[in-house]
Amino acid sequence: MARAAVLLALALLGSGCGVFTRPVDVYMRAGWMVANWNEPRAFPPRANVCMEEFCRRTDTARKYVGGRKGYTSQVHYRYCPEHSPHFVATGSRFDGFFYFVYWGSAFIAAFGYVALILFLPVFGVASLIGKARGREVDIEGPATVVTFVAFAINVAAWLMFAIW
Ligand SMILES: [Zn+2]
Repeated sequence: MARAAVLLALALLGSGCGVFTRPVDVYMRAGWMVANWNEPRAFPPRANVCMEEFCRRTDTARKYVGGRKGYTSQVHYRYCPEHSPHFVATGSRFDGFFYFVYWGSAFIAAFGYVALILFLPVFGVASLIGKARGREVDIEGPATVVTFVAFAINVAAWLMFAIW
């Protein structure tokens, strides 16, 4: 079981699709979209951004990524002329399972990043108040709020990623 997990982790990292850098790209992409919302040269209406990480070209076309060609399992993503897919592609139905695990892992990693960034000040403030009062401060309430906010931010960024 542990060996399978290690192999899966290596496959995710080695595939070049970047399970830990993808979340950073998803958030930066969301920020870029907000910044260029009314900028038709950078982000034309109905345009799709290249699937390559950290690429913001919108002159994209559908390219075959993986899965069994001609069947439901075949997957296409949009790429600019400069980039092509480098996801794991065995040409079988296994690819779909891999993408499912990959996007799921990237989503969870993205949630973790935002939650961590939001939690740090909460812990900092709580420990300062705790020191001033001379006892531990209960942060269950703020922690719940932070978790919800982090989840909402994550879902919003991924929705933008999925649509454009
Ligand atoms: Zn590109």
